[in-house]
Amino acid sequence: TRTNEEEDLPHATKKTMADHLRKFETLFTLTPQRMRMIVDAFTESLEIGLESPGQVVPMIPTFVFGWPSGHETGEYLALDLGGTNLRVCLVTLNGGGKFEITQSKYRLSEEQKHDDGQKLFNFCADCVKTFIDSNIGNSEEMIKSGVKLPLGFTFSYPCSQDRIDHGVLLRWTKGFSAPNTEGQDVTALFRKALEDHKVPVDLVALTCDTTGTLIASAYVNPKTKIAVIFGTGCNAAYMETVKEIPKLKDHGFASDAEIAINCEWGAFDSYKHEHLPRTKYDVVVDESSNKPGEQAFEKLISGRYLGEILRLVICDLIDEGVLFLGQNTYKIEIPYSLDTAFLSLMESDPTDELLMIIGIFTHFFALETTLAERQFFRALAKLIGKRSARLSACGIAAIVKRKDLLDEGCSVGADGSLYNKYPGFADRVHEGLQDIFGDKGLNIVTHHAEDGSGIGSAIIAAMTKQRKEAGLY
Ligand code: BGC
Ligand code: MG
Repeated sequence: TRTNEEEDLPHATKKTMADHLRKFETLFTLTPQRMRMIVDAFTESLEIGLESPGQVVPMIPTFVFGWPSGHETGEYLALDLGGTNLRVCLVTLNGGGKFEITQSKYRLSEEQKHDDGQKLFNFCADCVKTFIDSNIGNSEEMIKSGVKLPLGFTFSYPCSQDRIDHGVLLRWTKGFSAPNTEGQDVTALFRKALEDHKVPVDLVALTCDTTGTLIASAYVNPKTKIAVIFGTGCNAAYMETVKEIPKLKDHGFASDAEIAINCEWGAFDSYKHEHLPRTKYDVVVDESSNKPGEQAFEKLISGRYLGEILRLVICDLIDEGVLFLGQNTYKIEIPYSLDTAFLSLMESDPTDELLMIIGIFTHFFALETTLAERQFFRALAKLIGKRSARLSACGIAAIVKRKDLLDEGCSVGADGSLYNKYPGFADRVHEGLQDIFGDKGLNIVTHHAEDGSGIGSAIIAAMTKQRKEAGLY
């Protein structure tokens, strides 16, 4: 309860901030027991996904069969359409786990995410052409002489595949909504763009960033069994045995063959919301998104949403009259104006006065803060960041259980802005694994993965070529 004296103060006092913090600690903290319940439900969802098509967690067979030998060689183009950037790479695989890479990066505009799908692929084709002209040779000449460069396309959205070089977009994620794309074969859209723009390229494989990461990590570290992406979106891939995948029963693949599964685990607990601890802020993030109900797990974890969750908490406290009394709060009331990178900065501010947090609030939101408020914001960022990492641990644990990897242990190749840049994220994932599994949790170790969308995609293109030469496709 607040005293009259506190109400007269322009800023919230230390005491009231500490009171509020306790409430949020309860809301955002995951106990080990709760985590174990989530893991059990998660493992079950993964298994249901393997049984039949069209499940909440789709568990997509990727048509990447088995691990790379490490001897894959050759030159490949890779195109990476992720959540934030578009990248074109030229990858030279030298064998022995060695490679070289040259690349160009383009930032996608908000408009491009919502404009017609064919336009997005036209832009991709155009970028590939420009890249070829400035790094490889004259694309017009190549077209004339019939030369085509093999390209691996990393398209990091859920696509159901029935060949390695084909994929139907199930749904956009990460805020994309380009019309005329969902339900379409994205390789057909991209091939049309390549043809229209006269780009001398042969699209040989379509993959997801997680599958690429799994293969690229295994190329250099054979202990890798799982790959995870914690970036704008979140997802995982691992290798499954064909005979353990009921929905592939009638496909005629060798029963002991291994095939990489793109889990699309960001969809865990979508629609029904039975298992995950959603706060009212998470519900607002979901309901005001362009895909309400979908990607329920991802919305609690990934970089696209963490800043927004913190912003919604702050706005709630503004409405309650706790924060920023007498100041103009319009800037922080703009959806998605608080980037997840700010949470990283808040958590890593080394100064006693929390000067970086002062900077963020004055510079980006024109708001003045007290030290008590800044400590509160930092504590909130910590709660939200920690919850993200601990839920991530639940996902990893579910795959570990499914594949019975706990005793022998394994390496988990991890990539993405959250994993790479958020302070303490990996440590928190590891702590979470110990909370779930006890000491044996120490057997599961994440490490920064090789570039799956560039290198991984090239290795998959090379593996595809080898399979074709062996008459396997
Ligand atoms: C997509 C996945 C992708 C992940 C990480 C998710 O939103 O559905 O395909 O792997 O983001 O980029
Ligand atoms: Mg990426």
